[in-house]
Amino acid sequence: MSKNKLKKVNISLKFFIIASIIVICVFVVGVTYNVFDKVYYKEYKEAIKADMLENSRILQDKLLDNGMTMDTPTDLNLDIDSVAAMLDARIMIVNEEYRVIKDTYVERVNSIVVNSDVIHVMSGKAEYYMDELPDGYIRYICPVVGEEGVDGVIIMIASLDEAKKIEGNADRQTIIFGALVMFVCAIIAVIIGILSVRSMKIMNRHMEEAKEGGFDERIPVQGFKEMRALTENYNDTMNKLAVLDSTRQEFVSNVSHELKTPITSMKVLAESLIQNEEADLPMYKEFMSDISEEIERESKIISDLLTLVKMDKKSAAMNIEEIDINALLEVILKRVIPIANSRGIEITYESYREVKADIDEVKFSLALTNIIENAVKYNVDNGWVKVTLNADHKNFYIKVADSGVGIPDDCKEQVFERFYRVDKARSRDTGGTGLGLAITKNVILMHKGTIKLYSESGEGSTFTIKIPIKRVES
Ligand code: ADP
Repeated sequence: MSKNKLKKVNISLKFFIIASIIVICVFVVGVTYNVFDKVYYKEYKEAIKADMLENSRILQDKLLDNGMTMDTPTDLNLDIDSVAAMLDARIMIVNEEYRVIKDTYVERVNSIVVNSDVIHVMSGKAEYYMDELPDGYIRYICPVVGEEGVDGVIIMIASLDEAKKIEGNADRQTIIFGALVMFVCAIIAVIIGILSVRSMKIMNRHMEEAKEGGFDERIPVQGFKEMRALTENYNDTMNKLAVLDSTRQEFVSNVSHELKTPITSMKVLAESLIQNEEADLPMYKEFMSDISEEIERESKIISDLLTLVKMDKKSAAMNIEEIDINALLEVILKRVIPIANSRGIEITYESYREVKADIDEVKFSLALTNIIENAVKYNVDNGWVKVTLNADHKNFYIKVADSGVGIPDDCKEQVFERFYRVDKARSRDTGGTGLGLAITKNVILMHKGTIKLYSESGEGSTFTIKIPIKRVES
């Protein structure tokens, strides 16, 4: 199952970024506004309560000084009125007989108060009342305490209208400020949105151009860090594709050339026969056997090519089984020894331990056969070939050493390339196609192994192969 959880989203990344930033801003401005609002209202109320307490204390003293009466003309009346105006409050003074002796709203002067809270404060049952009325008022009832006890009660009812008004003003200011912040945020969001997708757009444009013009187009590495990484990756991929493309072209031209050579030879042989009117039977036989050799060669090249193509496919199925490598080597050597003996070449095989490993028997024996056959093909008459098998807990190792012509330093890498031969004529004489080591290397890589070559020109060659014993599928 794919680990990639990113679903197809049908909106542009630019729109997504802009919308996200705006939503976050709206949220932040909204929350800030609400918090400020509540804090402000609470602080305003606390300030009014503190003012009520302080002014009531001043009024209490003045009332006591005036003997709890409003009759004598003093400044008391004015003082109470100015406190009421300052607090935006209604103030009522109630004497011991529960009679209202002062009401800043006038209407209740001389009436009798029967409110239970007032009675409680007057009788000493409650020290004072400070509460918020549901219709947006703060009520404060406190006693006027003289030398002989409670002489009366002050009732203050302050309106919170002013707070609401200021709050309203604050609201308007906040809304204007919020709108301004939102506007700035929207502009920033649009700029960020455009900038974030700009590099992508440039990259996309370059890719479009690259699609038309092959693999030569490279994108300038610029923009944000992630975009730079993406661009570098894209350029690397393009470089690899370019190399692959040129390898493919080279391969195709090599194949055409290789396939053409035997056909040209056959054509020359056939034409000479046709043109030679005196050609006799022995001559025909000789030419026809040459033609037959060329056909064999052509068919070997085609069959090697097919093997390579099959292996090149990523899906080349591996038929992995636990195989006895000692037994496998013995079978291969049995086939090669007669050819070696015909040239007086001695093959020795040394195995240091029993090895059973997870391999594809057919492919692996093809790879080994190529190497051992080469050790014989490119050997000197009466030379030797030594094959050894060893293993540790992780890998097994096969070494094929020979006393042959060797491989010059500058050809060591190339001998694993397709159609590469050190000595073209010799390879041709021995029926080589130049594909054997390319096939071998492919097979070794398919087994997650390595192949190394040690050789000196004229002093023989040694190929060492290292393959993991247990196959771990990645
Ligand atoms: P070929 O079909 O020509 O043998 P290979 O791919 O098997 O193709 O080998 C590539 C070339 O490497 C050969 O043509 C030969 O020149 C060189 N080569 C391979 N094995 C040996 C060896 N054991 N000793 C010397 N040269 C070798």
